[in-house]
Amino acid sequence: MSKSATVPLLEVRQIQKFFPIKTGLFSRVTGHVHAVDGVSFSIEKGETLALVGESGCGKSTVGRSILRLFDLTSGEVILDGTRIDNLSASALRPLRKRVQVIFQDPFSSLNPRMRVHDIIAEPIRNFGLESDEAKIKERVAYLLDKVRLSKDAGERWPHEFSGGQRQRICIARALAAEPELIICDEAVSALDVSVKAQIVNLLQDLQKELGLALLFISHDLAIVEHMTHRVAVMYLGRIVELATRTELFSDPKHPYTSALLSAVPVPDPEKKTTRIVLQGDVPSPVKRPSGCHFHTRCPEAIDICKTEEPKQTILPSGRMVACHLRKV
Ligand code: SF4
Repeated sequence: MSKSATVPLLEVRQIQKFFPIKTGLFSRVTGHVHAVDGVSFSIEKGETLALVGESGCGKSTVGRSILRLFDLTSGEVILDGTRIDNLSASALRPLRKRVQVIFQDPFSSLNPRMRVHDIIAEPIRNFGLESDEAKIKERVAYLLDKVRLSKDAGERWPHEFSGGQRQRICIARALAAEPELIICDEAVSALDVSVKAQIVNLLQDLQKELGLALLFISHDLAIVEHMTHRVAVMYLGRIVELATRTELFSDPKHPYTSALLSAVPVPDPEKKTTRIVLQGDVPSPVKRPSGCHFHTRCPEAIDICKTEEPKQTILPSGRMVACHLRKV
């Protein structure tokens, strides 16, 4: 049996990322931003996992940790059986093409001084996938077609395109590296509602056609409802619930998930649920509340929640929840 048939494509094990806060003339470390604290999940080949939560919950830091944009405080990131969080830059290089990223802002993530053809051709050349210019041209034309842009788009400049079209260029550039996993970091958040839907549909089609895995990072549960296989909900640096899409949307177990879901617009008025309005803002990741970090906003909190951190419990169905009230 091949390695890829026996291990997940990506495994994230108990990762922590704490950013030091330095103050004063001597840059003394006076505290830490606990951006990610003990996050674990895996993604299978061809699977979409959505990582959701409010702004500042650490979900983008998880994505950037996988991309090795910085070193972890602790934990492991394993790509197709190979631990990558401790590899040197040169050892990491051949693995880089396997994981690509699409960021939120299509306006700043494209070089305004490069034509679209060269933007998409760059990873093909950089990763040594092709050196024959005629074949690169063919490949760029193929990728433009895949993201539903016309062939002549290659001769134009990024500023000539709308936000949605630019995000299609970013997708083509990501696909040019022939990745197995694409991290979509709030990839549709900056787009208009109708354009959002088009880009989500495009990503879904590409995923099925090319067998891609997606880590879809979003603050918006409504966006992921129709496109993901599983959902991990993050709060203050931790995953508080992880379940299949169907389980999570039909029967949320964690009070935070219930609150997020109650804010998702429902087209059928008969299915409308009461909106759970959370009090206050997300606490600071520098000074997190004791016990369950959510207790300061949780409508169901009991005494133990203030002092004891709930363990991540795997329920009989295989889903995970971290809450004192939900152990079965
Ligand atoms: Fe709410 Fe307590 Fe559950 Fe935390 S552990 S989510 S505070 S009920």
